[in-house]
Amino acid sequence: MLTLALSKGRIFDDTLPLLKAAGIEVRDANSRALILPTNRPDVRVVLVRASDVPTYVQHGGADLGVAGLDVLLEHEAQQGGAPMLRPIDLKIATCRLSVAVRKGFDYPAAVRQGARIRVATKYTGLARQHFAAKGVHVDLIKLYGSMELAPLTGLADAIVDLVSTGSTLKANELVEVETLLPISSHLVLNPVSAKLKREALQPLLQTLREAVPAAS
Ligand code: ATP
Ligand code: MG
Repeated sequence: MLTLALSKGRIFDDTLPLLKAAGIEVRDANSRALILPTNRPDVRVVLVRASDVPTYVQHGGADLGVAGLDVLLEHEAQQGGAPMLRPIDLKIATCRLSVAVRKGFDYPAAVRQGARIRVATKYTGLARQHFAAKGVHVDLIKLYGSMELAPLTGLADAIVDLVSTGSTLKANELVEVETLLPISSHLVLNPVSAKLKREALQPLLQTLREAVPAAS
């Protein structure tokens, strides 16, 4: 049996067509069940929180999974250790991880060498690495959502968050001042499964690779 971890929402929606191209059709997608069968008796899907996908795959709760690069790299930044196996960039759920501040805030002055800045984010590991590499002292404030509110209320000077169209930032009078990382979702593999289930995984990975749209 191959167990694939997905999160509901855009990753699930964007992964389904790729699976279909690989001959896998997920059944009962609209039920409340957390384990979904597929047309293949040897493949099932488990539904987990987006940020839990790396944990499931790393510890063998799933053989493979689909997760945003933001989630994968933040997981690695928090856990340390060897990076996860990520053989395929699926090029879905694309966006970028960026720094944003209030319109009119002098970001270059705030990040001059040796300065100190307060940053609110869900991605404390990635934000810490980013500002450390610039030689900027950072006070990190961990948030779980509505990051845009932090600079508006004086909780923080800046946020590190995902941006796709920029319309949420614009609606809150924030401006994107720096990009940390372009983001897309990747296929991740459990290292033990990669060895022991190689026969079953190889053809699946190959068809998925072929189903990924060529870079535009
Ligand atoms: P939850 O919504 O359950 O708190 P989440 O916000 O991590 O979890 P999603 O919103 O489904 O879950 O996001 C999953 C992944 O999709 C993110 O990790 C990121 O890689 C990508 N993503 C998030 N927001 C956007 C966006 N606005 N545009 C494109 N891709 C995005
Ligand atoms: Mg979300």
